[in-house]
Amino acid sequence: MRNDAELLWKEVMIRVEERLNDARAYEIWIKPVKIKGINGKRVQIEIPGMTFEKGFTPYIDIIKEEFYRTAGWQPEIEISYTGTEKEKTFIHPSTEYELPLNPEYTFDNFVVGPKNQLAHASAQAVAQSPGIAYNPLFLYGGFGLGKTHLMQAIVHFVKKRDDQKILYLPADVYLNEFIQSIKNKTAHLFRQKFRKLDFLLIDDIHFIAGKEGTQEEFFHTFNFLYDQRKQIILSSDRPPKEISFLEKRLVSRFEWGLLVEILPPDFETRVAILKKKCEIKKISLSDDIIYYIADNVKDNVRILEGVLNRIFALSTLLNKDINQKVVDEIIDGEYYKKRIIITLDNIMSAVCEYFKIKEDDIIKETRIKNILIPRQIAMFLGRELTGSSLHSIAIKFGGKDHTTVLYAYKKIRDLYQKDQYIKGVIDEIKNCLER
Ligand code: ADP
Ligand code: MG
Repeated sequence: MRNDAELLWKEVMIRVEERLNDARAYEIWIKPVKIKGINGKRVQIEIPGMTFEKGFTPYIDIIKEEFYRTAGWQPEIEISYTGTEKEKTFIHPSTEYELPLNPEYTFDNFVVGPKNQLAHASAQAVAQSPGIAYNPLFLYGGFGLGKTHLMQAIVHFVKKRDDQKILYLPADVYLNEFIQSIKNKTAHLFRQKFRKLDFLLIDDIHFIAGKEGTQEEFFHTFNFLYDQRKQIILSSDRPPKEISFLEKRLVSRFEWGLLVEILPPDFETRVAILKKKCEIKKISLSDDIIYYIADNVKDNVRILEGVLNRIFALSTLLNKDINQKVVDEIIDGEYYKKRIIITLDNIMSAVCEYFKIKEDDIIKETRIKNILIPRQIAMFLGRELTGSSLHSIAIKFGGKDHTTVLYAYKKIRDLYQKDQYIKGVIDEIKNCLER
């Protein structure tokens, strides 16, 4: 029974993860939840505590829905806390809640290949001798290439070795905590908390770009820690210079230490990663299938993992035979999910939000200058980021026909190269869309 419950729960979790499409929210609020058992229609789960419950509650409905889809019946969810010290958990102020790290993101589980070798070596170097050689260490590269994995590996390594104070935070959590601390008039505590550290790791630092107060606060924390030779480690999807709306003084500080790029893994590394993940997840797959996946999923390790998760679900839950055809469908599915994230509707709202204009303004055939540029940007992004036809882009954004879209596309593409402002605007909107 217990095993059945666990398998069922795993499948539900895979669906919830897909549905959320937000790796971080999943990591923070869903992953720590454990299934205890199923009793009739009552699904008994265990969560870390009351503080956690506040963040977790909004996801309960999604879990129930996906449960229903998987199992075919409506569950009742019964929540209890891990351990017995309920009160203790309760008094913890939310800012002190330590984010759960992924226990699998260790150096041991990180597969090294030519494209991530330097990143791996420098992460190990700072973990071993912090504050001296490379400060700050700035890791950058595309989505799903292992930046978060490496950062958390540093934390695991340091925590195991000695009792240095180390803190890992995604930049959006840093931002939220900072805002909270201002609201609660505890900004001084917020500041102290960071200045006590021996290691500070902020993931996806580009997130604070454009947020004046947070950049200011971080600037001072950075200087303080740096002067004390404490190790700072940052990650982003691009090098500091290319982060739009990041203050100049931060850009220059981020470049003081070592900048390292992570690139998509080559074929051999992809095979090795797949084998490693199979080992961790206890899935056995033939070499043929592994090579086949590695051949067809090239640019993103997260998709490689998504494919494995689905294979795992299909083979263990439904006893399906895993052949090339099944794998093809799964791969298509994983890529499709990624593609449909951005739609013309998303672009419309992102552009309108950015320029503070109404959708109607874009659709109407006005030639007022302050509408013209946003409209052309919307068309450019429509062509760049979605698979939509020129015709449907024209209809959506009030163009006459496909030539309007082509003209807009070329014009904005040119401006993107030449005009810093336009480049900044587009990068920012794209950032919003890709989050
Ligand atoms: P990023 O932060 O760059 O977007 P992540 O660190 O979240 O990427 O990595 C996405 C997934 O791919 C994680 O599950 C991670 O374990 C895995 N991964 C990426 N690179 C490697 C690697 N070299 N070896 C093993 N797993 C990897
Ligand atoms: Mg990451």
